[in-house]
Amino acid sequence: MVVQDVAAPGAALDEIAVGAFEAALEGSLIRPEDGVYDAARRVWNGMIDRRPALIACCATVADVQAAVTFAREHDLVVAVRGGGHNVAGFGTCNGGLVIDLSPMKGIVVDPGARTARAEPGCLLGDLDRATQVYGLAVPAGQISHTGIAGLTLGGGMGWLMRKHGLTVDNLLAVELVTADGALVRASATENAELFWAVRGGGGNFGVAVAFEYRLHPIGQRVLGGMVVYPLEQAREVLRHCRTAMEEAPDELGLVAMVLTAPPMAPFPEALWGRAVFALALCYAGDLAEGERVVGRLREVGAPAVDLVGPMPYVALQAMSDAAVPHGRHYWEKAGYLAALPDAAIDAFLTRAVDPTSPFSMVQLQTMGGAVGRVGEGATAFAHRDAAWTFTAVAAWPGEDPEPERHVRWAGGFARALAPWSTGGVYVNALGEEGADRVRSAYRPATYARLAAIKGTYDPGNVFRLNQNIVPAV
Ligand SMILES: Cc1cc2nc3c(=O)[nH]c(=O)nc-3n(C[C@H](O)[C@H](O)[C@H](O)COP(=O)(O)OP(=O)(O)OC[C@H]3O[C@@H](n4cnc5c(N)ncnc54)[C@H](O)[C@@H]3O)c2cc1C
Repeated sequence: MVVQDVAAPGAALDEIAVGAFEAALEGSLIRPEDGVYDAARRVWNGMIDRRPALIACCATVADVQAAVTFAREHDLVVAVRGGGHNVAGFGTCNGGLVIDLSPMKGIVVDPGARTARAEPGCLLGDLDRATQVYGLAVPAGQISHTGIAGLTLGGGMGWLMRKHGLTVDNLLAVELVTADGALVRASATENAELFWAVRGGGGNFGVAVAFEYRLHPIGQRVLGGMVVYPLEQAREVLRHCRTAMEEAPDELGLVAMVLTAPPMAPFPEALWGRAVFALALCYAGDLAEGERVVGRLREVGAPAVDLVGPMPYVALQAMSDAAVPHGRHYWEKAGYLAALPDAAIDAFLTRAVDPTSPFSMVQLQTMGGAVGRVGEGATAFAHRDAAWTFTAVAAWPGEDPEPERHVRWAGGFARALAPWSTGGVYVNALGEEGADRVRSAYRPATYARLAAIKGTYDPGNVFRLNQNIVPAV
């Protein structure tokens, strides 16, 4: 058998080489003719429909080394897949080799040292469940089926970031298989330049096979949930929240959004199918004090539903999972705001209310707190001074005959907020938007330093199927 459709047009792999590669793996190798191929080539975003030549399901570090070496020797494009959540779909590819890390799910928590070591196939829910046994947590994202690997390497924003920083601010060490197949450890004291780069520079420098995190004692219950308002109240409530958040303690994280109320409890029937305004929040601290702080947010408006209360942190982390299921088609546009003046609120709400699909939504998330207290050059993650992030997520069922209208809607939302945008973007919120947009995820000096480090560790750009840093060679 010959496996077609590899990186170089017309190139082919002979089965003896593929068979030897397969025999070397402790995990498995999936070929296009295998029954599991269709499921294995898919990622979270159903819009991405790519057909890799081979999928190496890696179970060990040695498997990853074998896969990187095989791809390099056979000039195969490499896609690295952690949780498969990347909206641009870089976790799979046409032709080439997918290095699928999903079998690598080991987690070891050291509650005494307050550290955790996790393998790159873990999802956020895996990490939360393991650390919450001890009332500890890694600050990370807000959807439990997101992969820890892609999220961590890009930065990692979530409910705990204002109090405890981004995920990268709590990364103690990472182990990577680099383009030459070597296993390298990076921390503050080992390969420090590489360690700086992987804290925001994405998957450009190698395949991460282990992450070591600092944990924080947040307890097993937080004050969290969602408050839903009829849309007519959105302007007044959002203006009030903006002011309240300027004074709010770091324990409070907030996301304001406009979404279409689904036809189900706890949404009142009168709102089903209508655009509503909602606040999702988390207060990670003393619960009684949290009630007082959140009470300030409740001073304005008459909610249609108020679901905020003490709840398990793992439940809060999974609260929005069902709103963004695997397989739907997604297109996203995001940016940062330095401030949220009234005119920006008006633009946000004007563009938000006419989504082309009931599954689409727009949101604003508060930054600040510990994120902004880390020096701008301390990690590769940039734009720490932003006050808010904005995101439009267009989502629709795959069978829609006119997908472009959803893309236009999300693009129009971002353009409406452009006058207040800093011009920067979170690298993990980028779609396939071109080299200039990748640069806008970083300050110029940060990008130049990343390019130099890329030139050291991956001069041939083996890891180019990502938000690519072009190696300075
Ligand atoms: C519904 C949804 C919710 C989200 N919520 C948040 C959030 O709350 N906070 C936040 O910060 N981000 C969030 N994100 C963005 C998320 O951080 C990125 O999509 C991230 O890329 C997901 O990582 P993954 O491992 O699941 O993705 P994958 O698609 O598997 O990987 C994405 C890219 O990361 C790189 N990569 C993955 N694994 C490795 C590895 N082991 N070694 C080297 N490179 C690797 C590769 O370049 C790969 O192409 C969300 C995304 C979605 C779709």
